[in-house]
Amino acid sequence: MEPTRTEAIVLAAMDYRESDRIVTLFTLQYGKLRGVAKGAKRSARRFGPALEPFARIDVELVVREGLSSLRGADIVTLYPGIRRDLRAIGLAGYAVELVDRYLPDGAPTPRLFRLLSSYLERLDQGEPLPSDRRFFEANFLNILGYRISLDHCASCGVELPATAERRAGASGMILCASCGRYGASVGPEAAALLGRCLATGRFGAVLFSPQSLREAGTLLDGAIAAHLTRPLNSLVFLKQIEPD
Ligand SMILES: [Zn+2]
Repeated sequence: MEPTRTEAIVLAAMDYRESDRIVTLFTLQYGKLRGVAKGAKRSARRFGPALEPFARIDVELVVREGLSSLRGADIVTLYPGIRRDLRAIGLAGYAVELVDRYLPDGAPTPRLFRLLSSYLERLDQGEPLPSDRRFFEANFLNILGYRISLDHCASCGVELPATAERRAGASGMILCASCGRYGASVGPEAAALLGRCLATGRFGAVLFSPQSLREAGTLLDGAIAAHLTRPLNSLVFLKQIEPD
């Protein structure tokens, strides 16, 4: 097969055999794939630091089912601003692990590629904001078909007006106050801001207050965990460095 070029974000990388590296890439054109970079561990000439997690690269590869073969890679950006800041590193690591764990192999998802690159750019440019993390998560779930329904109770189906008191059900569903008696409260402000996250594609357009951030966070954490069979490794690190 002929080699082809595509833009990609490195989701994960590990050493393989004596001198190779196996990388998981989120490519713009082919979706998620795993590939082997021969000699990448021994010789820095061909790949250099291009195969570090969350690097954005222009990669030349032969796409195969199972394991693709990387021929070379040019760095678009390593996001140096992220790599200078421990919290930004934690958040970027979390974002790429989330994509790695949720996305099936070989499903091109350009909207998700744009969302992930926008988030990495945002983290690269400045102070990592908790609001941006929640903005990323809400849109991430939406793009993958797990949009949180804010307007109706997920159990009884009753319509929830803007001013209604909502509750977070197990697995991050929105419930009415009666179905979700024991769930954490999701107030009208948190619900409205979550709705705005889905209505705009721009980071920085939505800023949560401390209370709405907590409420939206509980809901989103539940929704994300609901579709995973084991917890995310990066969350452990993130919890150590991120104040709640
Ligand atoms: Zn209900």
